[in-house]
Amino acid sequence: MMKFLLFLFIALFLVEKAEAQPCYPVPHGVSDQWVLNQFWQTNVRLCRLPPSDNRHAFAVSETKTVWIDQDWGDRIAYQYGSWATTGILAHEWGHIIQGSVSGTGAELQADCLAGVFMRAMGLHPSTIEQYAVLSWYEGGGPGHGTGEQRLNAALIGYHGYSGQRGLALQGLCPLSAF
Ligand SMILES: [Zn+2]
Repeated sequence: MMKFLLFLFIALFLVEKAEAQPCYPVPHGVSDQWVLNQFWQTNVRLCRLPPSDNRHAFAVSETKTVWIDQDWGDRIAYQYGSWATTGILAHEWGHIIQGSVSGTGAELQADCLAGVFMRAMGLHPSTIEQYAVLSWYEGGGPGHGTGEQRLNAALIGYHGYSGQRGLALQGLCPLSAF
């Protein structure tokens, strides 16, 4: 009985902690959030990471939330162009769409889904190459695959897209392809 109560107490504490993380809006990301949700027919929240968190951008599929360091996102947009932050957010949306999978294959699938979105946005094919370079340099790291793998994955999505929108498009990027 005591053990059960202790477990319950810890569980409640954890739930409380998870919900205590407030979602501060990302003013510079509002239009990307809207367009990405429209395109994928999702309802994903975009939240600003607190300064104490040193991560750049990540997705939590359980809560359908994408987190970004806004200062970092601004720097990326300034350095590469506004499409760059959009591309990174598109990759994070990819993680929400794919659900809870992990590993290099999952990262490449997220790149592929970003490629689908970038094509739908009418971005030039050379943007995909820039996206792969940017993703590589900005700390994707080995778990995300090589720069070449990332480029190829994004190109699969880019060239596979031929119209429409919605979650069914994830079929263009099957996990088995990566
Ligand atoms: Zn990722």
